[in-house]
Amino acid sequence: MNQPLHLIDEFRDPAKAGALIDDIRRLLPRIERARQSPLQLMEFCGGHTHTIFRYGLEQLLPEGIELVHGPGCPVCVLPRGRVDACVALAERPEVILATFGDAMRVPGSHKSLLQAKAEGADVRMVYSPLDALALARKHPERQVVFFALGFETTMPSTALTVLAAAHEQIENFSLFCNHITTAPTIQAVLDTPGMVLDGFLAPGHVGMVIGTGPFRSIAERYRKPMVITGFEPLDILQSLWMLIKQIAAGRAEVENQYQRVVRRDGNAPGLTAMATVFEPHSTCQLRGLGSIGESGVRIRDSYARFDAERRFKVPDLTIADPAACQCGEVIKGAIRPWQCQAFGNSCTPQAPLGALMVSSEGACAAYYNYGNLPELLARQRQAQQGAAAS
Ligand code: SF4
Repeated sequence: MNQPLHLIDEFRDPAKAGALIDDIRRLLPRIERARQSPLQLMEFCGGHTHTIFRYGLEQLLPEGIELVHGPGCPVCVLPRGRVDACVALAERPEVILATFGDAMRVPGSHKSLLQAKAEGADVRMVYSPLDALALARKHPERQVVFFALGFETTMPSTALTVLAAAHEQIENFSLFCNHITTAPTIQAVLDTPGMVLDGFLAPGHVGMVIGTGPFRSIAERYRKPMVITGFEPLDILQSLWMLIKQIAAGRAEVENQYQRVVRRDGNAPGLTAMATVFEPHSTCQLRGLGSIGESGVRIRDSYARFDAERRFKVPDLTIADPAACQCGEVIKGAIRPWQCQAFGNSCTPQAPLGALMVSSEGACAAYYNYGNLPELLARQRQAQQGAAAS
């Protein structure tokens, strides 16, 4: 029982981290461009952003490398109109709305799910879609709607829950489906005008489900190196080293750093469940990135009875973010969180204006919780004074 957690210790070993940083430092002079402008390396996933901030990895890296924080947080890219639609569902008297904790605090245009709950809506926090299905079994007189969101990481468990509901013929369970897919979202970032990125850390947990193939086609099409990356500090540092090694050698390939979890072909049962229940959806909107072809999924006709949007009248709303909110720019990596005028002022984790300050994977929450807040706010003031003077 008192065995040390070797795995965690090993992936947080300071000596190994130092050796990797030395290796990175040795590679940099080989990259001519790094001497003119810093390398722009994007970590797509909010989980990576939090590891980077929690362990201070950015401060350990040599000059010449800039980490750009990407849109890989499903709560963060959820448009305000979808939150409003979910609140409208939750406020129906017959509905129990079940969702993950993060999603409860995301601001809609008038209220969050948490505020709707305070006003009397029956909103329950769950840890998995199976918990929502258990609620449906327990309350056959109510309609249980699961607020389904996430990239391919959470999609298999949602799909398997729908299959279980179908198998048990549970009729009072449905999904408000907001699942999105990773590859089109990365492509949307790369297609953003003016976006300059030299390489990607790709999300290891998504790779565990979809395998390496979808990343490979992006790397080939855009000529961008990618490394599928785990979530411990040494995973990130090793992946950065692998990425920079590719750039130094002029390669643009997909490499798999997270080999202890990710297989080339992904997870076959998970992929089968996803393909059985979901189909690509061409009109999915993402905050900051707009409408991206086939980035979303919807429930297939054969499982339409589990689709909350076909069972209930759900408002189809497009709501702009408040003028002060620059979540879209942060999601695209165009600005850093502290460059948003609301950061640390009208937007804090206690009173969030945007989703990126709510989610445990949001870039703004990472900067706020783990960054040097006084220094970031001083930089923000300086930038604002500079803008006002010019
Ligand atoms: S500080 Fe708040 S409003 Fe600004 S980008 Fe971040 S989450 Fe959005």
